[in-house]
Amino acid sequence: MRRKLAAGNWKMNGTGASLAEVEALIAAHPNPGCEVLLCPPATLVGAMAAKAAGRIGVGGQDCHSATSGAHTGDISARMLKDAGATHVILGHSERRADHAETDAMVRAKAEAARTEGLVAVICLGETEAQRDAGTTLEVVGRQLFGSTPEGATGTNTVIAYEPIWAIGTGRTPTLAQIAEVHDFLRSELVGRFGAEGGLIRLLYGGSVKPSNAAEIFATSNVDGALVGGASLKAADFGAIISAL
Ligand code: PGA
Repeated sequence: MRRKLAAGNWKMNGTGASLAEVEALIAAHPNPGCEVLLCPPATLVGAMAAKAAGRIGVGGQDCHSATSGAHTGDISARMLKDAGATHVILGHSERRADHAETDAMVRAKAEAARTEGLVAVICLGETEAQRDAGTTLEVVGRQLFGSTPEGATGTNTVIAYEPIWAIGTGRTPTLAQIAEVHDFLRSELVGRFGAEGGLIRLLYGGSVKPSNAAEIFATSNVDGALVGGASLKAADFGAIISAL
């Protein structure tokens, strides 16, 4: 009922030459057993969407909450859609830290994405200090509530749980810790959205790699992964897709 999703976040990496990785990925996995999504930098969304030709999803890594206007350097959900995007990552911890994005801003962006028919991949996760202080569930619960708009469904929304201390560090939570957070997020979603909350996919993100993907994917309420570093190379991301 919830189709597994392997999502790649290229962050600020990649030029036109990197599109060869997309070709290699599609060639090696013509019929993946899960949904596949790659989110390149905005400069590559159009070219990647053209190469993907609907065989994999292509997403932006952020969008503005407005449709157009005097916002130098920003990109709207409508522009991403126009370039061929199907999804957009919102509220990644790097955006929250580097650009002071708040839950309310993320929520407004998610509403803009929905208006344009883009799936919002809403990210949340605790810092190491918050985990050490025992406030992880409180923190992610607050982020989930504040960042997810009313009317979220399994079709228009994906939630990615990414503990900040696990991103790009090679460290991952224990499987029990992942299960605890995902089970909690699931119950919060069902509490708020009813049966529809049972259809919203929950991705784990943070140092997912070919060697740990299978055990993470087998964890309670994990519907896939948001993968950073290991999504840049077709061989690594392909191995993660195979593990789903
Ligand atoms: P990582 O990044 O896989 O490189 O840890 C994950 C993310 O930030 O989405």
